Amino acid sequence: MDDIRKEIRRFALQNAFEHEGKTQDKIVLSKILGTQPEFRTKVKEIIGEISEIVSSVNQISLEEQKKEIEENFPELLKPKEKIIEREGLPPLEGATQGKVVTRFPPEPNGYPHIGHAKAALINAEYAKMYDGKCILRLDDTNPEAERMEYHAAIKVGLDWLGVEFDVIKNTSDDMNLFYEKGLELINSGKAYVCTCKRDTISKNRRERKECKCSLGDIKKNNQGWEKMFEKFKPGEAIVRFRGDMKSDNAVMRDPVLFRIIDEKHYIKGNQYRIWPSYDFSVAIEDSIDGITHAFRSKEFELREDLINAILDALNMRKPYQGFFSRLEFKGMPISKRILKPLIEEGKVSWYDDPRLPTLEALRRRGIKAEAIKKFILSLGLTKANTLAPFDALESFNRKFVDADSIRLFMVKNPKKLRIDGLPFSSVEIPNHPIKDMGKRKIEIDENFLIPGEDAQNIKEGSQIRLLGLGSVAITKVNDEFEGDYIKNGETENIQKIQWVPQKTSCEIKLLVPNHLFIEDEFNENSLEEFEVYTEPHYLKLKEGEEIQFVRFGYCRKDSQNQAIFTHK
Ligand SMILES: [Zn+2]
Repeated sequence: MDDIRKEIRRFALQNAFEHEGKTQDKIVLSKILGTQPEFRTKVKEIIGEISEIVSSVNQISLEEQKKEIEENFPELLKPKEKIIEREGLPPLEGATQGKVVTRFPPEPNGYPHIGHAKAALINAEYAKMYDGKCILRLDDTNPEAERMEYHAAIKVGLDWLGVEFDVIKNTSDDMNLFYEKGLELINSGKAYVCTCKRDTISKNRRERKECKCSLGDIKKNNQGWEKMFEKFKPGEAIVRFRGDMKSDNAVMRDPVLFRIIDEKHYIKGNQYRIWPSYDFSVAIEDSIDGITHAFRSKEFELREDLINAILDALNMRKPYQGFFSRLEFKGMPISKRILKPLIEEGKVSWYDDPRLPTLEALRRRGIKAEAIKKFILSLGLTKANTLAPFDALESFNRKFVDADSIRLFMVKNPKKLRIDGLPFSSVEIPNHPIKDMGKRKIEIDENFLIPGEDAQNIKEGSQIRLLGLGSVAITKVNDEFEGDYIKNGETENIQKIQWVPQKTSCEIKLLVPNHLFIEDEFNENSLEEFEVYTEPHYLKLKEGEEIQFVRFGYCRKDSQNQAIFTHK
C-alpha cells in the first residue's frame, strides 16, 4: 500500500502542478488505473486514499508542490525529453545522397488516418534526408472500393500534414503497361489463366495443390486472357502468377495478378475491366517509377518475396523494401470494417467525429499537424507493433498549443453569485500567463456565474477570490450566493475561483471525446457533452482557434456555439 500511496501522490502532484495547483480525484484515479490496471478491481479500496491525498495536495501552494516534486519526484520536471532524443529516422540501408526515391501509395478507399500519416511521413522524410524525391501514387486499381471522395480526402489530409511530393500520379495511368507485362508473363509461361471456382482455389491453396489450369499451354492462356476482356464474367477467370504452391508463405501459392471487375472506375470510367492486383501493380510501379526504397507497414512483410519474384520473372529492377509497425491508438481503431458500421448506425457522426483517428477528426479536435509529424518521427522505424496511448501524441501537441492558446474562463454547472460594492464596471485580464498575447476587457455588473464544483466549498462568512477581479466576503450561501467586494482581502488559504459575467456570458456546448472502444466494446460514453458558460470574448475568436479553458484544458473552437476538448 505504501507504494501505491506514493504513486498516487506522484500523479496528484504532477497534475496539480500542471493545473495551477489543483487536481481532482477522478483524474488521479484514471491515471492510476491507466498505468496500473491491476487496481481496476480494487477501485473501492484506493478511492479513499486518493481522496485524502488529493485534498492534501490541493491544500498546499504551487510553490510547495514544486518543492516536493523536486525533492521526491525530480523525473517529473524533465519529462518527455527521452522521446525527443530519439527524434529522427535511422540511416537508410544502401542510400546515396541525391539518389533516394521513395513513395507513398495510398488506396483511395477510405478517409486518411494516423496510419496513413505514418507511411507518408516516413517515406517523405527519408527523401528529404537524402535530398531525393518522394512520389505520391494513388493506388486506384480496385474500382469497387474506390471513390473520388476518398481520393480528394487523402490529398486534403496530406496537404494539411504539410507532406510535400515531387510527383503525383495514379496507378491507373499505367494500365496498358500492366497488360503488356502481364502478357509477357503469360508468354514466358510464368503466369496462367485460371477458371476454377473461388472455393476450389482456396481449397487448393490450403492443400498446396496445383489446379488443372496451371497445366495449360501458352496458347490456351493467351486465349483465356483475350476472353477476359469480353467473354468471361467477373469471377469466372483470373490470371495467376506461377509461384510455388508448396511454399510455406501462403502469398506465394500462385497469387492473383489480374481479375475482372465491371464496376465503373471513378476516373477511368468503363475503359477497363481487367484490373491488376495490389501485388502486381505495386511491383511494376515501384520498379518503373525508380523507387529505391519502398517502406510499408509490417502487415505487408509477407508480400516482399512475391514482389521480388514478380520483378525477377520480368527482369525488372527491384527496390529495397523496408517495413515499420502499424500505428494505432489504444481505444481508437483505424479499420474501415470497424468505423464504417459505427457511422452507418449513427453511433459516430462522420469521419470528422473527434473520437476518430482520421486526420480530419484529429485536426478538428485541435491536434496540430506539426505535433503529428514530431510524434511519428519520434517513433522511428521500430517493427514491434505497439498500440500507442493517445497521451503520447498529446504531449507533443501540448508544446504547440500551449504557447498560442488564449486562456478563457469557463463555468460548468453554474451557480449565481451577486457581489455588492464593486467599484468598477470592467476588468482587464491577460490572455496568457507568460507570453504577451494582449489583454481582454470584460464588462461586468454585480451578477456573476461561478463553477458549481467550487461553489460547494464556499461557506458563509468566508472569503473567496475571483481570479482577475478581487476578493469577496460571502454573506449568503444558498441556491444563489451573495457577497461584498473587499479591497484588500486575505491572501493566504483563500479559494480562487473563475467566473463569467451573468449577463454577457456565452453558452456553448463542450464536446469531450473519450476512448471509442474499451476492451473491444464500443464505449457508449465515448462522447460527453456539457452545456457550459464562457466569456463573451469567445465569440470574437476565429473558428478553429485553440484556447485553454482555465483549470479544464485545451479546447478547439468548433463554431460559435460549440468547442471540442483537445486534451489536458
Ligand atoms: Zn484453376
